[in-house]
Amino acid sequence: MEAPTPASIERSLGELRAAFPKRFEAAATEQALRDENAKILGKKGELKAILGQMGSISADARKSIGALANDLKRDVEVAFDKRLQALARSSRDAELNAPPFDLTLPGRQLAPLGHAHPISIVRDEIVDVLESIGFAVHDGPELETEETNFTKLGFPPDHPATDMQDSFWTTDGRLLRTHTSNIQIRAMSSIPPPMAFIAPGVVYRRDDDATHSPMFHQVECFLVDRRVTVAHLKGVLGEFAERFFGSGTPVRLRPSYFPFVEPGAEVDVGCPFCKRPDGTRAGCSVCKRTGWMEILGCGMIHPVVFENCGIDPEQWTGFAFGMGVERVAMVRYGIPDIRLLFENDPRFLAQF
Ligand SMILES: [Zn+2]
Repeated sequence: MEAPTPASIERSLGELRAAFPKRFEAAATEQALRDENAKILGKKGELKAILGQMGSISADARKSIGALANDLKRDVEVAFDKRLQALARSSRDAELNAPPFDLTLPGRQLAPLGHAHPISIVRDEIVDVLESIGFAVHDGPELETEETNFTKLGFPPDHPATDMQDSFWTTDGRLLRTHTSNIQIRAMSSIPPPMAFIAPGVVYRRDDDATHSPMFHQVECFLVDRRVTVAHLKGVLGEFAERFFGSGTPVRLRPSYFPFVEPGAEVDVGCPFCKRPDGTRAGCSVCKRTGWMEILGCGMIHPVVFENCGIDPEQWTGFAFGMGVERVAMVRYGIPDIRLLFENDPRFLAQF
């Protein structure tokens, strides 16, 4: 075999230059293209092999061949990138133009059917009952300003609920809402009365024991109109108890204090577990022998709250009540520990 000469090395480079565009063009997949590229530019590739023949030629010739080789290498790299992009584009186009997956096809494996979580069941029922009475669902954000969550509701700045220990604050001074009353504030600040809304949602507090969870669900209900009185509030609560807990369920209001209502009350319903056929209640362990179960807090919307939202309390009055969905679920099903609702043990969930 003849020793390589500058001319023969240049010829080899020329042949590679002439051939590589067609070889890239022929690569139909990204992998084929990468393989082809490695054959040309790789450590054991064709370009290296050609340059390996330069040992016996003069320094001048080596310099000019080196320049040729660098040009070729750059052109191969540019062509490789271009072809790679073209392949990516065409595979994306193929995907977009392919027939879509039929998501409605039945599964191949039979799985047992699940059902809604007890919290969802109870929340949906509460909402259904209140909708049937005439309230409409209204929504609001879970990340809230201190002003909307506390100040406009009439919480004094030193109220324990505003404490760092009781709420989840963000570094920019906002907090995860501690109740769905922020929706009441937002609605009353932006919608002219009258209004009748239900505000279901998730709320957050730094609480964690058998009857408190750091994340739980509330449904708030509020009505603003002319000449709304406690009688309307009591009427709606009675209707709610009747439709939700069953016909003949008694309701009682016990005076209580909440910053955003005046007067305020806590609401008990007759215990569903120790009800006698004649409608009286014997008292049981669930209701702690009282025959009553506390389910919610309520009251007439405080005039200061109206003023904070730009509503004239001389013209408009209203009521609000709010309940914890978990609490209502516990009362309805006799669940002793709120944590059962969040552990998602299938043996527990299958009972609903
Ligand atoms: Zn009872």
